[in-house]
Amino acid sequence: MRAKSGDFVLPGDILGVSEEFIPADWTYDDDGKIKSLVVGVVSRDDNHKKISVIPKTSSPAILKNGTNVVGQIMEVRGQRALVKIDSIKDNKRALLVSFVGGIHVSQAKKGYLSRLTEAFRIGDIIEAEVTKVLGLDNIDLKTSKKELGVIKAMCTRCRHFMKQTGKSEVVCSNCDNREKRKLSTNYQV
Ligand SMILES: [Zn+2]
Repeated sequence: MRAKSGDFVLPGDILGVSEEFIPADWTYDDDGKIKSLVVGVVSRDDNHKKISVIPKTSSPAILKNGTNVVGQIMEVRGQRALVKIDSIKDNKRALLVSFVGGIHVSQAKKGYLSRLTEAFRIGDIIEAEVTKVLGLDNIDLKTSKKELGVIKAMCTRCRHFMKQTGKSEVVCSNCDNREKRKLSTNYQV
């Protein structure tokens, strides 16, 4: 279970252990095991004790801390909103695999937020910043900056996208429903 340079790997394949290597590009540390995030080829640097994966496309989009991503809210449950990450902002290339991220209620906006449903609802399109990559379906995100948050809000009653009417309020032009969101300054409707 110690991958060599040139080995072909799939997402979740074990490349080595964290006592031996530092996880680098396109890898993550899963409880001491370094695994691949993508389909690709292993690159092992024994001098620097680094192991990384080169994705199977020529110039891939890299997902790491500080990267801004675009995704859709899949679920809002308790303290955490789940996000299907579709793409990296300003990068037209789709991601090689789909990633699932989460936004904790404390990372949604600056200041107090009593309920996460006042920031996000299912179907909303959001922009968020990656804060930690823990695995394919475990990526921590935040939207507390002003340019981050909901860029298209979906009406919970009729599923139409909504118009912005205030700093954190949107209205549905189809059914007149008013709802709250953590809106991005790049709101698109
Ligand atoms: Zn509506």
